[in-house]
Amino acid sequence: MLRARALQLAQPDEAGSTEVTALNALEQLIDALRGLPGVGQKSAQRMAYHLLQHDREAALRLSTALAAAAERVQQCERCHSFSEARICALCEDATRDARLLCVVETPADQAAMERTGSYRGYYFVLQGRVSPLDGIGARELGVAQLLERAADGQVEEVILATSFTAEGEVTAHVLSETLKARGLRATRLARGVPVGSELEYVDLGTIAHALVDRR
Ligand SMILES: [Zn+2]
Repeated sequence: MLRARALQLAQPDEAGSTEVTALNALEQLIDALRGLPGVGQKSAQRMAYHLLQHDREAALRLSTALAAAAERVQQCERCHSFSEARICALCEDATRDARLLCVVETPADQAAMERTGSYRGYYFVLQGRVSPLDGIGARELGVAQLLERAADGQVEEVILATSFTAEGEVTAHVLSETLKARGLRATRLARGVPVGSELEYVDLGTIAHALVDRR
């Protein structure tokens, strides 16, 4: 039955192109899942089989949600975090402390910082970190926009909350030098965050302490 369906799908349509066969669609799904962080061939296969065997509804929901997010979610023009609006809700929130600007690598790190409940300033999300091997330097991370944002006349301190990995440290160093050269005050989250850590995986108490003890 499945075989007959696959053969049927493989027939050229009216436009003359060959439609994807059942086998190819499954391969494509596994391939797409395997592209996700931390997902290898086996997990990708397991997810695909699970969705197709047991949970077609979830598969369709996932597909709809993915398409909607990919279409609607962009970067906030001000902080570069994810947003459906031109300017995100956090940047629009006038009750935040405009004297503080916290630089993080990812929206996930921003979320971790928010969960500590001990930071009330604004953010700038790099959407990456300096990585010479991948051709990502300060320019690719939007350092020009960061400088412009930090020089708005209200920001008094830029807190560098990049990860405590080698690349995160290099990023903090480069940004710190650039900001200081423009006469802007840059501080770094204090040690105490384990070396090699991505901020999003550090416990909230540790981040809160590192924030208080920044220098
Ligand atoms: Zn924003």
